[in-house]
Amino acid sequence: MNRMKLSFCSHLENEAFARTSVIAFLMPLSMSVEEVMEIKTIMAEAIVNAMIHGYEGREDGEVIVSVSYDEQKIVTIIVEDQGCGIPDIDLAMQPLYTSKAHLERSGMGMSIMSAFADEFYVNSKVDCGTTVTIIK
Ligand code: ATP
Ligand code: MG
Repeated sequence: MNRMKLSFCSHLENEAFARTSVIAFLMPLSMSVEEVMEIKTIMAEAIVNAMIHGYEGREDGEVIVSVSYDEQKIVTIIVEDQGCGIPDIDLAMQPLYTSKAHLERSGMGMSIMSAFADEFYVNSKVDCGTTVTIIK
């Protein structure tokens, strides 16, 4: 069992820092190129969602990324924000649904994370925040 936790403010430029840090932490697992690519994509989608939806572009919000893996090399990633929350999670998970069509979002982030993860859970409460859990 090994774990780490990152906390950073919701500047979009921190997405690359967090994504590459998570990949560096997982190096001992000797993942395939494909698995690394999938985890990078999952990280980018979850972190950008926290920043642009959760904090609606405010740069003073805190994003927390927790990562762990066990003896079976099962990786658990949790991305948390304390932003606006999701009023209807089932709707948010629908492919092509976006609440920010004017920002030219495609509404595919949740579907991509769900497709690349073995297990994918979203917990959210309006005005409290959102937690996305990815198991891979
Ligand atoms: P894309 O990811 O393709 O750029 P998108 O971000 O709108 O577009 P999804 O990532 O699938 O699409 O998210 C769907 C919707 O769920 C968002 O439009 C937003 O309304 C809501 N959502 C997702 N993550 C959060 C979050 N962390 N906080 C609040 N709302 C969220
Ligand atoms: Mg998204």
